[in-house]
Amino acid sequence: MTQIIESFNPILIFVGIVILIGLITSSILIRKRLEASDSHLHDVQAALDESSIVAITDPKGIITYVNDKFVEISKYEEYELLGKNHHILNSGYHPPEFFRQLWKTIGSGEIWKGEIRNKAKDGSFYWVETTIVPFLNKKNKPYQYVSIRTDISALKTAEANLKNSLKEVNDIKFALDQSSIIAFTDEKGIITNVNERFCEISQYSREELIGQNHSLLNSNLHSKEFFKNLWKTIGSGEVWKGEIRNKAKDGSYYWVHTTIVPFMNANGKPYQYLAIRNDITERKKTEEVLHRQDKLAAVGQLAAGVAHEIRNPLTTMKGYTEFLQLDETNEERQEFLSIILDEIDRVNNIVEDFMVLAKPKAAELEERDIIPIIKNVISFLEFEARKRDVKIRFEYEGDIIQIECDENRLKQVFLNFIKNGIEAMPDGGYITVRAAIINNQVQIAIQDTGVGIPQEKLKNIGEPFFTTKKNGNGLGLMVSFKIIESHNGKVFIESELNKGTTFNIVLPARSA
Ligand code: ADP
Ligand code: MG
Repeated sequence: MTQIIESFNPILIFVGIVILIGLITSSILIRKRLEASDSHLHDVQAALDESSIVAITDPKGIITYVNDKFVEISKYEEYELLGKNHHILNSGYHPPEFFRQLWKTIGSGEIWKGEIRNKAKDGSFYWVETTIVPFLNKKNKPYQYVSIRTDISALKTAEANLKNSLKEVNDIKFALDQSSIIAFTDEKGIITNVNERFCEISQYSREELIGQNHSLLNSNLHSKEFFKNLWKTIGSGEVWKGEIRNKAKDGSYYWVHTTIVPFMNANGKPYQYLAIRNDITERKKTEEVLHRQDKLAAVGQLAAGVAHEIRNPLTTMKGYTEFLQLDETNEERQEFLSIILDEIDRVNNIVEDFMVLAKPKAAELEERDIIPIIKNVISFLEFEARKRDVKIRFEYEGDIIQIECDENRLKQVFLNFIKNGIEAMPDGGYITVRAAIINNQVQIAIQDTGVGIPQEKLKNIGEPFFTTKKNGNGLGLMVSFKIIESHNGKVFIESELNKGTTFNIVLPARSA
């Protein structure tokens, strides 16, 4: 014992005391720190509880803790959740592989993050952005999982809506692109984008179009007022709709039904225009003729009856008038009788026109070369043309243009068209007749440099008795259309006010 006591060296005792004091203070410090970190933890947990949906499960996924937010969103009571497996909330949306991956991750001690759709007690779904943190024991095995979630249902719905509307927009864009001729211009009308169909119909490439003013395609048919009105409409933010004739690169014309939609900026000023167009060239070519045909049918029948009734008395009247004229010595009376004869001639012409209408088909179609027929008509009208300072030119391709026709009736057609041309040029001008075989069709154009036909009058052209002339009868065109029709042909008109008119006749060529 004394030995032992002796062995207590004072230095050792001192060291022992120092260590003891050190131990005590450090333990106090550690406890303080622990308390502090405890309160930190408390704060963090409170914050989490406020902001997030928190749950703790055991390693098998059995729920051991849920916070209020979890209860709220899942619509279960707390007691209904505790002790249950977490997949009670499974919505069946994700494939098994999804959860296998999740469990593999957290099972190996790693944090898993992802978006999950869960099912609430009432069967409704909610989306949560989920973070699962595994807590590991000494053997590095998870002994619990803490999951922290935030509700992203609203986000998901918005995302789905956005996707849907994006898809819709894309579908509409695709449909438009396929069906229509599309162009974007800036506020000045400079083309900024066009689709494939725009290039096709205009015959320009995209490179040639972009950066150009849209008026590049102007065909000079429409008046300044027309475009002024268009720009006024779209400039004030309204949609403009109408039919426009445009000019393609090769100079040919095409008609488009056009809708122009202005896009407005925050100041209520248009910053770009979207033009959606559809090709109506075919319709434009045929509508005049179609429009006429209903009327022609009705008038034709009426004409047949009337013409027969009038013809005989007319012949009688003419005969007696000529007879009276023979021994009339009074000059004034002679003059009157001449006027009566002139008028009888006029009525006779009308009747003859009617007779043409009455017969549904041209009497006999024979093979003829159309070139001498046209030359013949031109030489017949040469005198009258010269009187009015009109020059008639005839241009044709090839030596002969063979056609199945009723020669006399066809002559009447050319006569009507050329005469109308002469009458449309009170101050003189040019008539150009062109004939050619194009695409196995005989195409004859009769072009004048006259007054033109106003757009709004085009629909009246060819109507019975539509005339703007003092001495006109308004039958010439109708009769001509009828004759062309009976030759299985078509007529279409192009006219520009104060520039001139072209009547295009298309007839089937005699197949070789
Ligand atoms: P008419 O010559 O007796 O008036 P038409 O049937 O031949 O009857 O012509 C009907 C109308 O069509 C004319 O009055 C004229 O207004 C218009 N028209 C026809 N051809 C032309 C043309 N080449 N240029 C301008 N207007 C024309
Ligand atoms: Mg006429």
